[in-house]
Amino acid sequence: MSEHTHDIVIVGCGMAGLAAALRATELGKDVVVLEKSPKEHRGGHTRWTESFRIPTADIDVDAEFNVEGYTTSDFYSDIMNVTNYRADPELTKRVSEGAVETFEWLTDLGIEWEYQAPHPGYTAGRVWLHGEDFVDELVDILEGRDVEFVYDAEARGLVRDDDGAVTAVDARVDGRKVRFSGEAVVLAAGDYGSSKEKRTRYYGPGYGNMKVRGNRYNTGEAIEAAMDVGAKSDGEWGDAHMAIIDVESPDVEGGITRIDGYQYGLILNHDGERFVDEGQDSRAHTYAKFGRKIFEQPYHEAFIVVDGKTVDEVAHMGPGRPITGDSLESLFNRLGLERVDRAVETVAEYNAACDPGEFDPDSLDGNATEGLELPKTNWALPIDDPPFVGYPVTGGMTFGFGGVAITPDAEVLDTRDEPIEGLYAAGNATGGLFYNNYPGGTGLTNAAVFGRIAAESAATYVDER
Ligand SMILES: Cc1cc2nc3c(=O)[nH]c(=O)nc-3n(C[C@H](O)[C@H](O)[C@H](O)COP(=O)(O)OP(=O)(O)OC[C@H]3O[C@@H](n4cnc5c(N)ncnc54)[C@H](O)[C@@H]3O)c2cc1C
Repeated sequence: MSEHTHDIVIVGCGMAGLAAALRATELGKDVVVLEKSPKEHRGGHTRWTESFRIPTADIDVDAEFNVEGYTTSDFYSDIMNVTNYRADPELTKRVSEGAVETFEWLTDLGIEWEYQAPHPGYTAGRVWLHGEDFVDELVDILEGRDVEFVYDAEARGLVRDDDGAVTAVDARVDGRKVRFSGEAVVLAAGDYGSSKEKRTRYYGPGYGNMKVRGNRYNTGEAIEAAMDVGAKSDGEWGDAHMAIIDVESPDVEGGITRIDGYQYGLILNHDGERFVDEGQDSRAHTYAKFGRKIFEQPYHEAFIVVDGKTVDEVAHMGPGRPITGDSLESLFNRLGLERVDRAVETVAEYNAACDPGEFDPDSLDGNATEGLELPKTNWALPIDDPPFVGYPVTGGMTFGFGGVAITPDAEVLDTRDEPIEGLYAAGNATGGLFYNNYPGGTGLTNAAVFGRIAAESAATYVDER
């Protein structure tokens, strides 16, 4: 077995690993980045990202954001609210409070952001980016600092010395076993949701068939390697970010194939029934949990339905085509619903329960239905203005909510809640932040903030050894 030695071994070349490598090299450390995918697929799920949630109110840049006045405390509250207060408050504090500094740090490194949303209906502070270019720019900076990237390198094991400190990563590089020794290791290998077997194990039968939006390599073996040497698991292993995506999305690596704007219409299943409060909250605070609800409907499929009043508010990013009909009946027939009669009735009952005031797509406008057992809480406009438009959708796997347990300083905890010496983790390889739901744009911020923190903790540990 060949052996390589560095100050810090970083596992994963997504946002968390890149942020860790950037910060560690600033602190004078020699790092190596191990990436399981071939070079052309590098960047993990980060390759498909398009937004970075930040408190726009607390940032000093000369730009007009599409949502102004979003504060650090709003960011904290949004994470806590959408997770029903199950998110770890300390981790949430680090992410929300670290977002501004991390954004400024990335900006100083030369990242150029877009400030206006490409699609309508955003209600939280964000900046916009193109994930693939973003990854390339960060890798370029690191290569300029002579950082070694080893592609086709899959971390499968961690080595602890007699005192319990993690001192190496055992990887398969092009099928050969290679040991990468380091004074510290940062685990930034993403989640496990791309594994059919783990989706079935953690979410249930049928989930193996769910379409995977991100990369095919996030199958969780590096998380298991950490647990094999004593790391504690944390977070909601039985739940995940599952988004509303076009039913014709590819089975894997579909990327951005969402259909947004469902909150202004209805979502019906093949039985012609509604099953979620489409207007419960802003799109960014419902899309990641509604995807799972859709996947649980017959044939893992449902249909967004809008009319002429709101069709322009729908952002259709998927490969399929919208279906139109001059009447609801013809639309439902064209969409192939099994219970067209019931679907027509459902819309009629819904229309009768609507009594809207002014429609405002950019805020929770309070236009709620009255008297329905399953209400629609905002944007309840009757669907009565042809042509009617329908979009077949399914739920798409984004990332799993379980991972290793970390402290607010990104130290990995063992099953007795003691930090494992020399082992740090960041991003989707960790658990504890997201439960039940997810506020859009937070995964990238979480990975960047904690990647940076992990590097700082690892560098301090290396210096003190
Ligand atoms: C389609 C899509 C769109 C998204 N859009 C957004 C968005 O706009 N905003 C947002 O905030 N979040 C978004 N997310 C979520 C976001 O991508 C993640 O939360 C974030 O990128 C996580 O970063 P990470 O570094 O932890 O993981 P990743 O970016 O997934 O990186 C993990 C890396 O580790 C590698 N790896 C895995 N196993 C091993 C191993 N054993 N050994 C070595 N390497 C390994 C993987 O190949 C990968 O490169 C999106 C996700 C998807 C799938």
